[in-house]
Amino acid sequence: MRDMASGPRVLLKRLRELMAEAIEPQERLDRIVHDIAQNMVAEVCSLYVLRADSVLELYATEGLKRESVHLAQLKLGEGLVGTIAASARALNLSEAQQHPAFAYLPETGEEIYNSFLGVPVLRAGRTLGVLVVQNRTQRQYRDDEVEALETAAMVIAEMIAAGELTRLTRPGLELDLRRPVSFTGNSFNEGIGLGHVVLHEPRIVVTNLFNEDSDEEMRRLEAALGSLRLSIDDMLSRRDVAFEGEHRAVLEAYRMFANDQGWVRRLDEAVRNGLTAEAAVEKVQSDMRARMMHMTDPYLRERMSDFDDLANRLLRMLLGRSPDDVAAALPKDAIVVARSMGAAELLDYPREKLRGLVLEDGAATSHVVIVARAMGIPVAGQVKGAVSMSENSDAIIVDGDEGVIHLRPQSDLEAAYAEKVRFRARRQELYRELRKKPSDSKDGVHVDLLMNAGLAVDLPQLNESGAAGIGLFRTELQFMVASTFPRAEAQEGLYRDVLDAAQGKPVTFRTIDIGGDKILPYFKNIAHEENPALGWRAIRLTLDRPGLLRTQIRALLKAAGGRELRLMLPMVTVLSEVAQAREIIDKEVRHLSRFAHHLPTRLKLGAMLEVPALLWQLDELMQAVDFVSVGSNDLFQFVMAVDRGNTQLADRFDTLSVPFLRVLKQIADAGARNHTQVTLCGELAGKPISAMALIGLGFRSISMSPASIGPVKAMLTELPVEELTKFFDENLAGNAANLPMRALLQAFADDRGIPL
Ligand code: PEP
Ligand code: MG
Repeated sequence: MRDMASGPRVLLKRLRELMAEAIEPQERLDRIVHDIAQNMVAEVCSLYVLRADSVLELYATEGLKRESVHLAQLKLGEGLVGTIAASARALNLSEAQQHPAFAYLPETGEEIYNSFLGVPVLRAGRTLGVLVVQNRTQRQYRDDEVEALETAAMVIAEMIAAGELTRLTRPGLELDLRRPVSFTGNSFNEGIGLGHVVLHEPRIVVTNLFNEDSDEEMRRLEAALGSLRLSIDDMLSRRDVAFEGEHRAVLEAYRMFANDQGWVRRLDEAVRNGLTAEAAVEKVQSDMRARMMHMTDPYLRERMSDFDDLANRLLRMLLGRSPDDVAAALPKDAIVVARSMGAAELLDYPREKLRGLVLEDGAATSHVVIVARAMGIPVAGQVKGAVSMSENSDAIIVDGDEGVIHLRPQSDLEAAYAEKVRFRARRQELYRELRKKPSDSKDGVHVDLLMNAGLAVDLPQLNESGAAGIGLFRTELQFMVASTFPRAEAQEGLYRDVLDAAQGKPVTFRTIDIGGDKILPYFKNIAHEENPALGWRAIRLTLDRPGLLRTQIRALLKAAGGRELRLMLPMVTVLSEVAQAREIIDKEVRHLSRFAHHLPTRLKLGAMLEVPALLWQLDELMQAVDFVSVGSNDLFQFVMAVDRGNTQLADRFDTLSVPFLRVLKQIADAGARNHTQVTLCGELAGKPISAMALIGLGFRSISMSPASIGPVKAMLTELPVEELTKFFDENLAGNAANLPMRALLQAFADDRGIPL
């Protein structure tokens, strides 16, 4: 009886020799199909490769007519071969002609063959081609034969991915792997980046495919699986995980998968058939990914991503690979492509090499995006499919303005974008010029243009942008990128650096605004909340944990010794919260003065206006504080009852609609009435059209991301404020709720040549 394992093993050994030989690609393919046919006792073995125009072209055959090579072709989805490619599933048929999809290619002479086994040539879940064996007799191919053919297909996939077949491609045609593709997601940060793909947590490329000794390889696989299970158990037993519902659920799923008998059996089988442990992981994963790709159930697709992560972990364990190796090999124009990412992980990449970020998930206000914005790199988010369609070092363009990416772009597109980048550079030059000019409107109204910041990396932008100061310093970012609570000294150190960098320009520090979507993994007290945006966050949380607030206030008071300190409280809902915070501040001031500390020369306390309840106590609010800053991101979220992180709703309601503009006007009016300074520091301040509206409504101070200062200033210098004020007086009052305000404002600007 034939030894079940020897067939595939002999074949793999043969393929390994063939891969190592210095021969032309066509000859290598010819010999591969010849040897597969021989090994599997098949009369025919053919390889079809998927081209960029969705045609499967015959690249090599043993048994069919030689002259049909590079001529015989099928469309994706057409015939048996096209069906296999489209579904990424094998077909094993004893009577091929009976199959409804059968379409015969007369030029190949294949009509005399009855049995048919075809498998997709897969790499990282993408179909690159189809490998087929055929016999005259009516037979069903055994499982080990299917396995052998799949493994051979994997070898061919590596050949295709390595670019070996490009030389065999006729002029004007391209292989599917090199096909230019574009994906549309959402704009998370403006800007254009041209560069090369760096897959975050890149799929590890397995180059050592065949094992020398399967028993030894089985031991390696077992050992790696053992450590994988241990590491997951370890993560699950950590106390912080126990508090986070979702995180825990993912890890639980990982644990289940790591013990999944089906998965482990398939891995074992692949190793027994001659693959190395890492090649086995890659193969099983690729098969599974290809199958799951066609599933529409979002739950199953999400689980697939978990499986991907798990397989990657296992590969890393087998290869003993550290993340540092990845950073060292970074191209100088890296565009990081990731499914999702933590803020700290992005900071691991050297800024000078980063040209952009592409995320399959994420929201415009997620931490990683806030950090990316601070770093000034373009970001496209919610770009589904970006990871699986990218290969490391593929050329890529990120259009952060439109939320679009172009993978492997054609040269004309690349040239157009390069021109766009040059145009932007010229505009940046213009903004640099503007930096020296006063930030006054055309009719001489002064407006303070401030910048938002939160990390030490932001500080150089203060000079580069020409901002008048920092209108919002998000102190929680230091907490968010740390792995434990930053110590008092570290907090004080950062605040001092910020004030030093500001060189006397005003800086408004906001006390930590955590909770909601800003989770500190090491802060274990936040229980699962049904509505975290409305939950225990910001000032509510810090008043309940006064130790946290006290430490921070003390650090701020010390850092600002001899200078002015502007302190701002997030998410104030009722005025007693301001009073309570003031008590804590006063106590700290008394404490420090008792120990003869150098105190701030002046202390100003402000409240953020984010909760609508404050709109019905505006005059009292203005009297209770030294300044008010509108957090338009949260205020809009609460006024419109629309989750700021929900991309499905992102464009549903307009920030420049009449109701919201009326809210903003009420706030500006109350500030003027009470002689209390009012600023706005949400995203709204950073878009020239909405910044224009704010100024027309009466705001004389706005704070935005540093990159927005130039465009907003360019708008301001051309803006006749008085005319716009009049426009609002006429258009916001009365029966105006349905006026298309954005379009009217655009027309206002166009008529006057105001650049938006
Ligand atoms: C806001 O809500 O507008 C704001 C500036 O605060 P954050 O975005 O940090 O919540
Ligand atoms: Mg806010």
